[in-house]
Amino acid sequence: MRIVVTGGTGFIGSNLCGRLLKEAHQVICVDNCLTGPEKNIKEFVGNENFTFIKQDITKSFAIEGEIDQIYNLASPASPVDYFEHSLETMHVNSIGLENMLKMAQEKEARILHTSTSEVYGDPDDNHHPQGEEYHGNVNPYGPRSCYDESKRYGEALIYEYRRKLEIDTVIIRIFNTFGPKMKEDDGRVVSNFISQALRGKDLTIYGSGKQTRSFCYIDDMIEGLLLAMNSEIEGPVNIGNPDEFSINNLADLVIEKVGGGSEKVFKGLGKDDPKQRQPDITKAKNELGFEPKVKLEDGLDKTIKYFRSLIEKES
Ligand code: UDP
Repeated sequence: MRIVVTGGTGFIGSNLCGRLLKEAHQVICVDNCLTGPEKNIKEFVGNENFTFIKQDITKSFAIEGEIDQIYNLASPASPVDYFEHSLETMHVNSIGLENMLKMAQEKEARILHTSTSEVYGDPDDNHHPQGEEYHGNVNPYGPRSCYDESKRYGEALIYEYRRKLEIDTVIIRIFNTFGPKMKEDDGRVVSNFISQALRGKDLTIYGSGKQTRSFCYIDDMIEGLLLAMNSEIEGPVNIGNPDEFSINNLADLVIEKVGGGSEKVFKGLGKDDPKQRQPDITKAKNELGFEPKVKLEDGLDKTIKYFRSLIEKES
């Protein structure tokens, strides 16, 4: 198949491009590299099935020829990145998404849009774990709003494009994901902790560290995206790993695995930082046969190995 991946130089996008190329598809990666470094796709350059278009999808552009599928991943996604690029985040998840929906309509392609667990905001105790029917507890006017609300708008836009224009769409809500090709400095908790531990620094815990997250290894996430794209499901559907950990648990695990003398230091907690997050993946299990396989411990080993090799290359 001929497949477009927007956000293709990012962490999930570049891993997705790699998997699609392995399956012998033609991959057209589109990215303006605002937050996804071009080095993530270096290994694909020269592969005759791979094309890179450096492009901001909020600006009009065309791709010649037929397209079978579009994965729309373009968006800053780590809190540090979307705080810095807040307007770009809102534009890519509204204007950019609409441009890709129009492309899907013109090419008669199926389009998968990556929404987020942030549509649930700071979920209350009655909605833990979070199922797709929960409408969330989101602050429309705060530091996370640029991401949360633009992703929520994106879901509404897709709903109308599907209803009025009969576009073949699927919405995935991605939960915390980690693994090789994360940026060391993207500010997320897994990359921060591993990098800090490997560099002999203390691990920065925001708040008490009692807040929870549920971490999905990248290979499982990619599997979920492929299953959803190659089904007829409409979504929204949660994709993630339901094993839930506190941030303190995660820090202890990283310190134990990396060794060295790092300790935990406690810093202020950002506004609207969700207290808990865990996906209910019943729908993905039942309708897609999705089952995450990689345990946090094993995923951390692989991710630590990846960051260790990057850091060793520096010297
Ligand atoms: N966090 C932390 N230390 C860090 C980075 C993040 O304690 O160095 C916390 C953050 O406050 C949040 C959780 O870890 O509660 C997950 O943060 P991340 O940025 O990975 O993503 P989020 O799930 O908040 O979008």
